[in-house]
Formats: sequence, structure tokens, C-alpha cells
Amino acid sequence: MATIYHDADADLATLAGSRIAVIGYGNQGRSQALNLRDSGLDVIVGNRPDSSHDQARSDGFEVMPVAEACGRADLVMLLVPDEVMPEIYREQVAPSLEAGNTLCFASGYNVAFGLIEPPEDVDVILVAPRMIGVGVRDRYLDGGGFPSFVGVHRDATGKALARMLALARGMGSTRAGCIEMSMHDEASLDLFTEQAFGPAFGRVMISAVELLVEAGYPPEAVLLELYLSGEFAYSLEKIREVGMTRQMDFHSRTSQYGSVTRGARFMDLGPAIQDKMRKVLDEIRSGQFAEEWSNQQEKASEIFDKVRAARDQMPMTKWEQNAREAFHFGDAVGAGPED
Ligand code: NDP
Repeated sequence: MATIYHDADADLATLAGSRIAVIGYGNQGRSQALNLRDSGLDVIVGNRPDSSHDQARSDGFEVMPVAEACGRADLVMLLVPDEVMPEIYREQVAPSLEAGNTLCFASGYNVAFGLIEPPEDVDVILVAPRMIGVGVRDRYLDGGGFPSFVGVHRDATGKALARMLALARGMGSTRAGCIEMSMHDEASLDLFTEQAFGPAFGRVMISAVELLVEAGYPPEAVLLELYLSGEFAYSLEKIREVGMTRQMDFHSRTSQYGSVTRGARFMDLGPAIQDKMRKVLDEIRSGQFAEEWSNQQEKASEIFDKVRAARDQMPMTKWEQNAREAFHFGDAVGAGPED
């Protein structure tokens, strides 16, 4: 059984008299800064001068350049995007760190794969919410909390665990529960979800859509049946609530009989899917993926432009657009920032 921490394990008083610098005021930065401040902690914000900076100021924080915030803090929370974090760390964070400070990450990625190597005399901890930024704030305000992966990567002061738990409590995460994990495991699980589970799931969805359209069903009806109506999302929510096996009880007897008898025919796909997933996992765990991605940074925009152009040519994109217009779901559904 993994170690799981709750409110009773954490003491906010551990951070009394400590100043926390939240570096980056984006999805996680804003929510975490607001939660920590509402929990009575002393929070300042470091961000470059732009709209995030203005937002932090209008939320009532003292905002300053990253290096200055790090220099004035005892505990630094790095909440900038993972791909720019090593450079920001090297140039603006590391020079200000002092012995006994704490560095907190919301993702284990950079430490796990050696892209950031904090000094020996600094506590290095992980509080990685399993929740998008807006949920971190909403769940704090409604009292529900949200789960996180947490861990002590380096305990230089003997206080790293207590500090980590106090931070997680201040954010509202120990209310739901925090599971102990190494930076490497946290990063690997996260990447596996993105690179294997998500794409495999997506392939099943696209295969079903293509097959049914080829069989003559109208694309709008197919998409509605499979996921656009929201019924599938609702079933996933039930899986979350009662579990994968017991959610069956919410379906009709015809549905249950059909899925059990016909579902068995897909069993042999399991090992084949796992073979592919295992290869992805191996690349993640060995650091091969992180190295590849670091080497692709200069070409990243070019790669994403090509992916978006290809995506726009996919029949699915047109079918989804038509269906959304037909059912008045509105443009907001699924529209990304670049759309
Ligand atoms: P965002 O992209 O939302 O926020 C980035 C922040 O960093 C913004 O304030 C942005 O300011 C600033 N920033 C971006 N680029 C630079 C730069 N080159 N120099 C200086 N500042 C910069 O990040 P997230 O909140 O999504 O992610 C932060 C951390 O949280 C990451 O480690 C991520 O893995 C982790 N995490 C994220 C989750 C999520 O739901 N998003 C969930 C769990 C963990 P500006 O306005 O200047 O761009």
C-alpha cells in the first residue's frame, strides 16, 4: 500500500515565518498562489512583465522579476512550463538560492531526467496536483480538495517532509489525499498517460468512427452516439465514482449481455496494445524521450504547425465541426487557443 497523506499529517505552522515565491502565474501558479495565501501563508510572485504579471498584481500580490522573488523567498515554487524551466532555473533561480531554501516542483520531469540539478544544500520537493489549475482553485474554494503526487527528492535540512506536507495542505490537497512518489515515477506516469494511454484510447475512438461512417451511418449520428452527446463522458464519471467493473450496473441488461459476450472478442488485443505501451514506457523511463524532446525544442513550432495542418485535413475534424454546428454545441466546445 502506498503512503497517502491527509490533513492530519500536515502542519501549516511549519511554514510560519517562511516566505514563498510562486514563479510563473499561469494555470497552476495563479491557483496555487491564491490557495496558499488564503491558507494564511506569505506569498510573493515572480513573473516577467506581461499579462500574467498584471493579473497577479490585480489579485493583490507583490509581483517582481523572477530572480528578485527567488532572492527574497525561503521556498521557491517553480510553476513555469516544463520546457522553459531549465533555462529560467539556470539564469534566474539558481543564482539566488541559499543553503536551507526549498525548491518545489509541480512536475518531476526536469529533476527526474537530469535537466535541472539543484544544489546539495537545498530541500527539493514535489507537490504535483492531479488537477488542472482552475480545478485546484475551485476545489480549494468548495472545500473538496484535490489529489496530488508528492515526494521528497532531497532532504537537506531534515525538514523537507514537513515543509512538503505543509505546502500540500496550504494548497488544499491533503484534504483529498496526497500519494507519496518519486519525481521519476510521477513524471513517468504522467508521460505514459499522454503518450500511450491517451493515444491508444484515441485510436479506438477514431477507428470506431471511421468504421461506422464507412458502413453508411451519418457522421453526425456516429459522433453523437459515441461521445458528442456527453453520455460517454458521463459513463467515465461513473467509472471514477464506482469503478470500472461495477459501473456496468448502470447499463441496461441488453447492454450488459452484449458487452460481456462481444467484449470477450477484443481480449486478444490486450497483449498487442501492451507491447506498444511497454515500448513507450521504456523510452520514458530510460530518459530517451526527455533527451529527444530537449533536442527538438528549436523545431517544436515547425512540428506543431505540421500536426495542426494535418489535423485540419482529417475528415474527423470536418465531421466534428458539422455535428457541433448541427447540435448547437457552440464553438467553445473543444476549441483550442489556436483554433
Ligand atoms: P502555464 O503555461 O499555465 O504558466 C506558465 C507561467 O510561466 C505563466 O505565468 C507564464 O507567463 C510563465 N512563462 C512562460 N514562459 C516563460 C518564460 N520563457 N519566461 C518566464 N516566464 C514564462 O504553466 P502550467 O501552470 O500549466 O504549468 C506549470 C507547472 O505545473 C509545470 O511544471 C506543469 O508540468 C505543472 N502542472 C501543470 C498542470 C496543469 O494542469 N496545467 C497540472 C499539474 C502540474 P507568461 O504570461 O509570461 O507566458
